[in-house]
Amino acid sequence: MILKLNTSVSANDAAQLAEKHKAFHIHYNGSQHLITSSSMKEVPNELAAKVEESWVFANDMQLASRAFQQKTREIKIGDLTIGGDTKNTILIGGPCSVESLEQIQQSAQLIKSQGLTTLRGGCYKPRTSPYSFQGLGLEGLKLLAQMREEHGLSVITEVRDATHVDEVIEHSDIIQIGAKAMYDQGILRACAKINKPVLLKRGFGSTLQEFVQAAEFILSGGNDQVILCERGIRTFETNTRFTLDLCGVAYLQEYTNLPIILDPSHALGYRYGIEKLAKACVAMGIDGLLIEAHPDPSVAKSDAAQQLTHEQFVALKSAIEPVAGSVGYKIV
Ligand code: PEP
Ligand code: MN
Repeated sequence: MILKLNTSVSANDAAQLAEKHKAFHIHYNGSQHLITSSSMKEVPNELAAKVEESWVFANDMQLASRAFQQKTREIKIGDLTIGGDTKNTILIGGPCSVESLEQIQQSAQLIKSQGLTTLRGGCYKPRTSPYSFQGLGLEGLKLLAQMREEHGLSVITEVRDATHVDEVIEHSDIIQIGAKAMYDQGILRACAKINKPVLLKRGFGSTLQEFVQAAEFILSGGNDQVILCERGIRTFETNTRFTLDLCGVAYLQEYTNLPIILDPSHALGYRYGIEKLAKACVAMGIDGLLIEAHPDPSVAKSDAAQQLTHEQFVALKSAIEPVAGSVGYKIV
């Protein structure tokens, strides 16, 4: 249950009430709110005079729910805003991993030359084998910071585990929580305490309910800037790397107030169909796309098969622009 407290309740009193009722205490849209488990269905008597508005839920999809807030949340990324009434579809591009100054420099130039604002690149990679490239770590984060400085770009990079969470948070403008980290309590709780947007990827074996509940960990901890990312789920199919769940996207658009970014690169896992999938994604009226591109994918140290060449990335942008326009959105 969500209880919006009236303005006469002091922050101290609200904190005490939260403790007593095992609730989270957050400030949202200028008001104090208590968030309890969804098993609470009625405002407790002693709180009645202190509560201005309340919401009851069938399950623990609460702060993220359109039943709480109908409008999609607005989230600022640098000078850009997505969500709300903006009808912006942010195109975020860049390599899977930051590999060298030259490689990330070329990637930054690509993003800049396309009039885009946000560069991706992983520095702590959550690989399925310990023998694969694990990312450049702090050295990579510094290269991203250099790109931000030199090109005026926002950067997004992923936090792999709780050991480097502070470092990643410090160096990125959007923190990416990877699919394998979606359940990581250390990461979720650390990201709940910051004032930066968090891109939460759906675990490839997670239900939509579990996905949204992971977002609730961040929201209920006080960070209201969560973006959901569908990146493909595991099905019985093996010819594609994963299966992009567009039904899930329709569900999330219908029932949640969080902006949604789609990642067809990791879903398909191969270059050949990324442009077509990107068109399908954009046709749904989405808040953003995450596309992997590399100056020379044949030598990429991770996800080589799915990264687009820079020429393909430019072609993809031209191909999705009219599709976005046809549903009232624009690629930014
Ligand atoms: C990535 O974005 O490079 C990545 C590792 O993604 P995911 O967590 O979706 O596998
Ligand atoms: Mn990748």
